[in-house]
Amino acid sequence: MSTIKVKLKGKLFEEVQADSPTHLEVLKQLKIKNFDKVVAVKVNGESRDLLGPSRSGDELDPIFLDSEEGLEILRHSTSHVMAMAVKELFPGTKVTIGPAIENGFYYDFDYERPFREEDLPRIEDKMKEIVGMDLSFKREEMSRQDAIDYFMKEGEDYKVELIRDLGEDRVTLYTQGNFTDLCRGPHIPSTGRIKAFHLTKVAGAYWRGDEKRAMLSRIYGVAFSDRKTLKGYLQKLEEAKKRDHVKLGHQLGLFGTYEEIGAGMIVWHPRGAMLRHILEEFEIQEHLKRGYELARGPQILKTDLWKRSGHFENYRENMYFTEIDKQSYGIKPMNCLSHMLIYGSTIRSYRDLPKRYFEMGTVHRHERSGVLQGLLRVREFTQDDAHILCTPEQLDGEIKGVLDFVRDIMAIFDFDYELEISTRPEKSIGSDEDWERATKALIGAMKGHQLPYQVNEGDGAFYGPKIDVKLKDALERKWQCATIQCDFTLPERFNLVYIDKDGQKHRPAMIHRVILGAMERFIGVLIEHYAGAFPTWLSPVQAIVLTVTDRNIPHGKAVLDGLQEAGIRVEADFRNEKLGLKVREAQLQKIPYMLIIGDRESRDGGVTPRLRNGKNLSFMSQFEIIDLIQEECKQRR
Ligand SMILES: [Zn+2]
Ligand SMILES: [Zn+2]
Repeated sequence: MSTIKVKLKGKLFEEVQADSPTHLEVLKQLKIKNFDKVVAVKVNGESRDLLGPSRSGDELDPIFLDSEEGLEILRHSTSHVMAMAVKELFPGTKVTIGPAIENGFYYDFDYERPFREEDLPRIEDKMKEIVGMDLSFKREEMSRQDAIDYFMKEGEDYKVELIRDLGEDRVTLYTQGNFTDLCRGPHIPSTGRIKAFHLTKVAGAYWRGDEKRAMLSRIYGVAFSDRKTLKGYLQKLEEAKKRDHVKLGHQLGLFGTYEEIGAGMIVWHPRGAMLRHILEEFEIQEHLKRGYELARGPQILKTDLWKRSGHFENYRENMYFTEIDKQSYGIKPMNCLSHMLIYGSTIRSYRDLPKRYFEMGTVHRHERSGVLQGLLRVREFTQDDAHILCTPEQLDGEIKGVLDFVRDIMAIFDFDYELEISTRPEKSIGSDEDWERATKALIGAMKGHQLPYQVNEGDGAFYGPKIDVKLKDALERKWQCATIQCDFTLPERFNLVYIDKDGQKHRPAMIHRVILGAMERFIGVLIEHYAGAFPTWLSPVQAIVLTVTDRNIPHGKAVLDGLQEAGIRVEADFRNEKLGLKVREAQLQKIPYMLIIGDRESRDGGVTPRLRNGKNLSFMSQFEIIDLIQEECKQRR
């Protein structure tokens, strides 16, 4: 028996008695709290397997199952278990990659046919068997050539390709039972640690995301530290399915997509078009109140201008081009250029600044067909876009103004949100100095106003860093909508100036910002947030008049006319059908007020409103119901 000296992070060195002990043994001897929840360990700051060797001088920092990193290791390990199960059940399957993702994991397989939802229960049962066997995850290092030989022999071509592309001299393999995978690790010590998982869906995915390569079968799963958390998550997932905006959008008659028109292009049906109109009108008012001016540019602009702005060089693959009179034009993917030309169209003095140009700007961007999704990822969309041109001294106040704007608007929709700063990406224009100034301005504004934020390295726009606003909806899911970008580069490229107090020309700073972001995406998020039951002020149809019998139609018509006259969005159902059926249909349409007209209402000249949640209000006059709805609109409820 020999002695080694190790310590827990933040503690003193201790002696541990054991011959070539693993981290697992050492942590046990050190009697750490919640020992059975440890799934891996940071050794001198690097994540390692618990079954790796401890050496004298090591500083150990246990990773617990319920930590973010612990969960990631658990989820990734579960993907190895799934791959093993799939290979046992479907001989001849080739494995590719299986990373951890938010809440779970996936693995991409190449099998003679795509996997189906019906396969999932069998795979899950097999995985439970593997978990029950409590197989250890054994790590093995080998030379690149040995690993290539091994996977060639196994017929795992994708692994061979991965090893070749890795370009490392040595690689690591992990084995549990009879399944071996190429992997960097770390992993949980054994399969028995997996307590709560569920396979959720299958999807097609191209090998390496490349449409020219093989179509693989991707199986998604979720995994959590315990069954209770898993159950809670699955309930949320069920609720999310019910709120699916594509399903609801169809049910509520909001929008559709048509193969004849093209993928990623939304057609707004009357109720959806009305919802958009309400939002757009609301937005215009909110912008005018805050000193913005309306602006509007054309849909296509000469390609030469896109070259000047840097879009052609940095953003071309997302753009569409066309030709007019042998001259090349680009369809706008962003609205900035017209706004800059407006600014540059006359001499500007410091007294004129800031200029805030607002446009409901429709843009086209090429997205790969594989990523298109309902209203969330589309090829044509309209942004509530604005460009603020100001003096460098005004920049901080302008950023603050936009952040306040975001706060006020998101409160109306009952969204919580988080802020993130995205910094310079690999593909970018502008000098290091400008990038630093712009990044400092954004961070300075957030710090100055004591707003908490996170940093996303390298995720900025090609012309400047940005603040991203991540909304949290009713199910606590996060959505990217508003962004605030700071830019010193485009004003330079377009030679924008203002005359300062000193009589000299100076360069203005520019903010690109959206509040709701893409209207399509925002409406998609709104539909799921409200489960289709929009507050009264947003509802495309606010009330529906329902008659009990044909006798009540004359009074029903009078109510319909009265409400319409008052500017309320109202419809009527005068069919000779049972009231119960009419109510159920209106409820499915999530109309806030059903105005029941029976004999009493006809006689006394009023309505009895019923709410979509089933609650009944008492009899009221036509004027009272108009007041009630108008008051809700005023309060934006
Ligand atoms: Zn792995
Ligand atoms: Zn812009």
